[in-house]
Amino acid sequence: MVPIEILATDPWRAKMALSNTFGKGRIFLAGDAAHQNPPWGGHGFNTGVGDAVNIGWKLAAVLNGWAPTSLLATYEVERRPVAVETIAVATQNMATLAPELADPRLMGSDDKFAAARHQVAEVVQRTKASEFHSLNLVLGTTYRSSPIVVAGASARQETPDNLGDYHPSATPGARLPHTWLSPQKSLYDLLGREFSLVGDPHAAGWTPMLEAASELSIPLTPVELRSELARQLFEVPLVLVRPDQHVAWRGTAPDDAREVLLRVTGHPVMPVGER
Ligand SMILES: Cc1cc2nc3c(=O)[nH]c(=O)nc-3n(C[C@H](O)[C@H](O)[C@H](O)COP(=O)(O)OP(=O)(O)OC[C@H]3O[C@@H](n4cnc5c(N)ncnc54)[C@H](O)[C@@H]3O)c2cc1C
Repeated sequence: MVPIEILATDPWRAKMALSNTFGKGRIFLAGDAAHQNPPWGGHGFNTGVGDAVNIGWKLAAVLNGWAPTSLLATYEVERRPVAVETIAVATQNMATLAPELADPRLMGSDDKFAAARHQVAEVVQRTKASEFHSLNLVLGTTYRSSPIVVAGASARQETPDNLGDYHPSATPGARLPHTWLSPQKSLYDLLGREFSLVGDPHAAGWTPMLEAASELSIPLTPVELRSELARQLFEVPLVLVRPDQHVAWRGTAPDDAREVLLRVTGHPVMPVGER
């Protein structure tokens, strides 16, 4: 037994707290200042970083002059629902706590331990599944209803509504699917600091998108991929990727590249289609 001396205690309570608004005027709330969830599942820091990445590129775009201030309002639209879902999941994870899962037989003789072990493991797995297996909650965040995401006709596959199974998808609003282009080179390494157009340079929308971005002074990095690889990853030849690595638009060619770029940077425009 190691003798210990308690020098101080810090009372703490699990909180389910959500700010009514994530921003007003020049002030934006991110991380625990905007939302707090019980720590079971370990989602507090993830969502805080997600907030910072989301508001970060939007602030940079406005300050650098290639997006209107109205873009900033989409921060709350995109991130508050993520906080709502995370709080709900973490609250559910809190329903069964470790002391309730402790079985005195585990501290008994080897025989008692062996008899109890599999039973306890089954109960732990069953009651804590959403706490242990939540990759889709973390990576599957999809801003499918965002006003700065162009759903288009090709947005047929949505991220499944389960916590564990993450199936990368280039559906607009989702995180860009990752792939290794070579053992040392990730697709993500090729993305620009701002927007990126990723895919087949022979697709009909490639040049119009690059030209429209140049005309509108929207920074857009072209990332060329073999057409088969693009189709395999995205189901279409081209994806427009935001600075936070979420897909803003995908397709072969937009009806109007200018309109797409204006919409995804927060300008008020009419709905756009796709040909
Ligand atoms: C027991 C426990 C376990 C957790 N486990 C996990 C986990 O496994 N995984 C996970 O992702 N998350 C976990 N979290 C949650 C995670 O720690 C928080 O969500 C995260 O730290 C929030 O980061 P933040 O930057 O938003 O806020 P904070 O970390 O609270 O940072 C805010 C900072 O602002 C400073 N500050 C406050 N007021 C002022 C002021 N007026 N001027 C200047 N500075 C100020 C504070 O001192 C603090 O340093 C856990 C939390 C707890 C309590």
